[in-house]
Amino acid sequence: MTNFNNEKWHPETLGVRAGSEHTQFGENSEAIFLTSSFVFENAAQAAARFAGKEPGNIYSRFTNPTVTMFQNKLAALEGAEFCVATSSGMSAILACVMGICSSGDHIVASRSIFGTSVQLFSNILARWGLQVSFVSLTDPEAFKAASQKNTKIFFVETPSNPLTEVCDIAQLAEIAHLAGALLVVDNCFCTPALQKPLDFGADIIIHSATKYIDGQGRCLGGAVLGKKDVLEPVYGFLRTAGPTMSAFNAWVFLKGLETLHVRMEAHSRNTLVLATWLEQQAGVARVYYPGLASHPQYALAMQQQKSGGAIVSFDVKPRNGLTAQEAAWHLIDSTKMISITANLGDAKSTITHPATTTHSRVSAQARADAGIGDGLVRIAVGLEHIDDLKADLASLA
Ligand SMILES: *Cc1c(COP(=O)(O)O)cnc(C)c1O
Repeated sequence: MTNFNNEKWHPETLGVRAGSEHTQFGENSEAIFLTSSFVFENAAQAAARFAGKEPGNIYSRFTNPTVTMFQNKLAALEGAEFCVATSSGMSAILACVMGICSSGDHIVASRSIFGTSVQLFSNILARWGLQVSFVSLTDPEAFKAASQKNTKIFFVETPSNPLTEVCDIAQLAEIAHLAGALLVVDNCFCTPALQKPLDFGADIIIHSATKYIDGQGRCLGGAVLGKKDVLEPVYGFLRTAGPTMSAFNAWVFLKGLETLHVRMEAHSRNTLVLATWLEQQAGVARVYYPGLASHPQYALAMQQQKSGGAIVSFDVKPRNGLTAQEAAWHLIDSTKMISITANLGDAKSTITHPATTTHSRVSAQARADAGIGDGLVRIAVGLEHIDDLKADLASLA
């Protein structure tokens, strides 16, 4: 198989071409290698493969050619030396922590990370002796103050969900390194098409490929990216514990990466127009979108990201005798086209009420502290025509 890679290619070209390998059959679209194991020519070759003396595939829990193509393409896009593909975004986070931390170690995490990541850190990994401190994403001093001798990881998402807060990756990387910790950035919302955290000094990138990398809501998958020596134990955990990416899913994600740049551009373009329109609607009190000049970290976001991305949240005004929550639910129920689901990163726009769905397991006080009000609605803007999206939200006028 020949590997198609060229360091001079632009990001769009890398998305289409990088990492591709072709068999003797000359297929243009990459092949799906649905095989659990690989055959050796003889006993000596089997021994050499197992001893790591000869490169090559052994078993698909370790490596698989379709998964390898996906890893190489995503690594090229993120500018990473190494990529480990996983069965989901959550298993990427799990593998990252299991590979890098041990019992008794400490993590400083942003308070506004994906809800299941909070559960993983505080309910599951805590039982295995891992300590975690949660601090505000926009307060670098708090990360510094929370750091301990045993802090191994700073863990953030930027922009955050659902309020699209942004952190200064370069500044946080510096603080992490002074504390002897690695900065891990969950880059799910932006993807490398809009933001490349390694360029700002982050050490590790997490992806839920389930979102924009797939782009059409079909498969679950994830990835951990960074330097090879740092990720060696992460890969070791994966090949031993087994939450590896399936070859079929890797193929879907390979196809997704080919169109990532055009999709993210179109998603962002739609979202900026919609966010601007939302700010003008009588039923909307406040809009949260890093691509709007009204966003408190607009300047930082525009310096770090190519555009604002495709997640917009807004506070619905309590009016017409409805409470804030009733007004939010009324809006959601008035839509005819937008999907009522908490997923994101799909060509189909989705609408959700964070307080009663994604953040319902968080206490009312913690929600209030995080600024997630009862009137907050989040839209993950898809690829429908902007006029049809506005028409579906017409009850906000
Ligand atoms: C969805 C998501 C995850 C988890 O990914 P899965 O593929 O659902 O396991 C992690 N981080 C962020 C930011 C997400 O949106």
